[in-house]
Amino acid sequence: MEKTLVILKPSCLQRGLVGEVTKRFEQKGLRLAGMKMCQLTDDVLSEHYAHLAERPFFQLLKDAMMATPVIVCCFEGVGAVDVVRQMAGTTNGRKALPGTIRGDFSMSSQENIVHTSDSLENAAIELKRFFKDEEIFDYKSVSNAFIYASD
Ligand code: UDP
Repeated sequence: MEKTLVILKPSCLQRGLVGEVTKRFEQKGLRLAGMKMCQLTDDVLSEHYAHLAERPFFQLLKDAMMATPVIVCCFEGVGAVDVVRQMAGTTNGRKALPGTIRGDFSMSSQENIVHTSDSLENAAIELKRFFKDEEIFDYKSVSNAFIYASD
């Protein structure tokens, strides 16, 4: 089982898509292991988006992520990092495939509804950034036998 971070961005909250996006991950068979609303700060976003610090849109991106509170989620499942990333679609909503979250709900690179961790290593770092250990819950999902069978 892998755990991955999803952030429901201000565009998700403003567009009234929190239920829709969460529903997609739940219906896929991912287990919700943690979820909370929080107001992000410039400091945490500078760390989270450090790989984009030299890009011209860096401050705009951070401002957009602070425009409203966000909802941070931890989803768990077999191969969860890649599954969630594929469900989100490519960064630019205009280029993301229909059927993906960004492909269905975004027309923008910046306002693209969700953040998803891009590797297992980064998922672990990002989950630590946004959650305390006691905010991640390891309860047993009774439906796993019907989600995964032997594979
Ligand atoms: N972003 C942007 N303009 C761009 C590229 C990225 O505003 O040209 C924002 C966008 O919100 C994106 C975030 O920066 O989700 C992080 O970029 P990254 O390349 O890590 O893409 P992601 O993993 O979110 O698809």
